[in-house]
Parts: sequence; structure tokens; C-alpha cells
Amino acid sequence: MSNFIPLSIPNFKGKELEYVTKAVETEWVSTGGAYIDQFEEQIAQYLNVGQAVACQSGTAGLHLALKLSGVEYADEVIVPTLTFIAAVNPVRYLGAEPVFMDCDDTLNIDLDKLEEFCNNECHLTEKGLVNKKTNKVIKAMAIVHVFGNIANMERVMNIAQKYKLKVIEDATEALGSYYLEGKYEGKYAGTIGDFGVYSFNGNKIITTGGGGMLVGQNNDLVSKAKYLSTQAKDDTLYYIHDEVGYNYRMTNLQAALGVAQLEQLEKFIETKKRNYHLYKTEIDELKGLELLNFNKNIRPNYWFYSLAINKEQYGLDRDQLLRKLNESGIQTRPIWGLNHEQKPYVNNEAYKIEKAKYYLDRVLNIPCSTNLEEKDVLRVANILKALKYSL
Ligand SMILES: *Cc1c(COP(=O)(O)O)cnc(C)c1O
Repeated sequence: MSNFIPLSIPNFKGKELEYVTKAVETEWVSTGGAYIDQFEEQIAQYLNVGQAVACQSGTAGLHLALKLSGVEYADEVIVPTLTFIAAVNPVRYLGAEPVFMDCDDTLNIDLDKLEEFCNNECHLTEKGLVNKKTNKVIKAMAIVHVFGNIANMERVMNIAQKYKLKVIEDATEALGSYYLEGKYEGKYAGTIGDFGVYSFNGNKIITTGGGGMLVGQNNDLVSKAKYLSTQAKDDTLYYIHDEVGYNYRMTNLQAALGVAQLEQLEKFIETKKRNYHLYKTEIDELKGLELLNFNKNIRPNYWFYSLAINKEQYGLDRDQLLRKLNESGIQTRPIWGLNHEQKPYVNNEAYKIEKAKYYLDRVLNIPCSTNLEEKDVLRVANILKALKYSL
């Protein structure tokens, strides 16, 4: 289809080809090379943190973050049900079990219910927070900043302190989002909890094809993440290994792409912001459709746009609209299937899940690539209008 508008695709109009070519020409393509160090340093500088560790994927970064938070076999970890499953699976990699939480109206984890759960369903012991039902220790919580919006980190950190939980910020969708005011004014998503993880998968705000980055409060633990990600080599000449490591290091080829992409991050956010506001003006005048807001106290990265559909007022439900848009060459997608309903997790605890179901049934993500021009946004908006008025 000639004028097909995809949901979210990469944008390579910077120095990508130049840097990747250089990596190939110098024959540094694997897990060593100058671009890896450069990418780590530049991300650390952008986020204003001491150190960042480049990984093969966001999922790998989350796995390391959970491990270094002390999550072990038979522990539990609090996670949201409304998120991409990659935020949950690494809990199982460690032999631990997720406990699923609901979302609130921002689509982030519901902190009222989370606190209620810690207070009513658990007790604090010498070993930490123990789930009364399972008698297992809850070591940590994974806080996902959904679609680039930031969860209320001031509250998250208070809950974490009160209930002795480690905080892993899944900032895979939120690179570039930061607080404009409050206790964490100027702080970027991912730099507040014990660990923060970013992703450079193909649909993220910047991409390395596949890749991730880990940051954290404790420099020794962040260094340990690098050690574990490079096969836990204790002697690089004689190959002595004192621990079980992983092959999780980013390659120089990926990092070359990353350096070029990072140069354009702020420009990408500008474009996403402009397109978001254009959509919003066009869509909010349509009864039955609403583009969900980002929190007021942050500068979001505007990664994904969420269109909430009121089927009585608009005339079409989520799936009808998805099909109609698809027929018009507009790619959209529902939010992810809820994690507590996925086959590997159906027997896990899920605490009062209500809003996640509500939003899953009503929200579609609409095209948000940084390649989108004004005319593309207007085309999507005009089709949304035409669909309503042709009913
Ligand atoms: C993309 C994403 C991940 C995983 O990142 P990968 O780099 O694809 O492994 C994890 N959590 C969430 C919420 C994501 O959107």
C-alpha cells in the first residue's frame, strides 16, 4: 500500500550510516569497540548519572537489575499487569514469581492499590516484606513508565522505603522524560529508583536495532552489571570466572547506531510533541474519542499516543475502529494483552485488577513515528472524523 502509515518505525536521517560504516571499516563489530564506551558515556551524560551499562536488550538489562536487587529463587516481585511482558519475564528467569497490580487512569501502576496490598496482604519481618498468602518474601517492584509517562516516583520511593522494597524503573519507553517540578525536578525517568533500564528496540524512541542500557544508584552494583553482562570474566587473559555470567553486552555495531540516534533524541521528542498536540486538537473535538494526557508535572518524551474510545458516543468499538483504520492503511494496535492472563502467569496472584481491563478494552495506539509529517497526522484525524460522521 503506497500511503500506508505504520504505527511506529525507526528514523535514520542522521549519521547512522556513517557511524555504522566506520564500525565495519575498522572491523570492530562485536562486544568491544569505541562506540560502546561512547554510547554509554553519552547516555550517562544525557541522564546526568555517573555510569551506564550497554546491554543486548532492555530485557537483558531488566534481568540484571532484578538479579542485582537481590531477587532470588522463590522470591516475589510486584509488577504491573498492563505492560509489555518483557517487564515480567525476567522475574521468572530468576526463579521468582510476579505479583500483578492494576493500573490507574494514567495507565501506570496503581499506587493506591499497591500500598493497600503491602499494608493489608503482607507483613514486614526481619527478612523483609512477606506475602501472607504465599509466605514468600517480596524483594522488589518493577515500575514501568508506560508510553513515556512517568509514574509518581515520590510516592513509589516512599512506599519502597516503608516496605523495604527495591525499585527497578522500567524506563524502556521513557528515555528523555523528566520531572519539571517537585522533589525530583530535573530528574529523568529511570534515574530515581535503585535501577533504571532503557530499551533501544526498533519501535522505541531511539533504536540500535536491539539494545538496552542499565543505570543505578549504586556504582558498585552498576559495575557488577557490566561484569555479569560480559560473562563474568575475573581474568581477561586466563579466562577465570568466579560467577555465572551472561552474554548480554551490546555490540559496537549496535552502539554506532545508538550514538547517531542519541544525537537526534531531542529533535525526535520535539516532533513527537508537535504531532501529539496536532492529533489532540483534531481528535478532542470528536465526541467519543480522547487522546490520553501525559502528566502535567513532567516533560514527557511523547513516545506512544493512546486513543481512548467511548463506543456509545463514537459509534465504533476498539476492534471495529482498528479494522476500519487498517482498511484505510493506518496501522494501530490495542494495548498489550494483560500479563496476569497470559498462559505462564495465570496461576500467579493478581490484586484487584479492574482498570487495566477497562483501558485494554478501550484504547488503541495510533501512528507516532518521528517520520510522520503534519499531512499524515491530519490524514489519520480526518479518517477518524469521516468514520464517525459516516455512521
Ligand atoms: C520494549 C520494552 C521492554 C523490553 O525491551 P527490549 O529491548 O525489547 O528487550 C521491556 N519493558 C517494556 C515496558 C517495553 O516496552
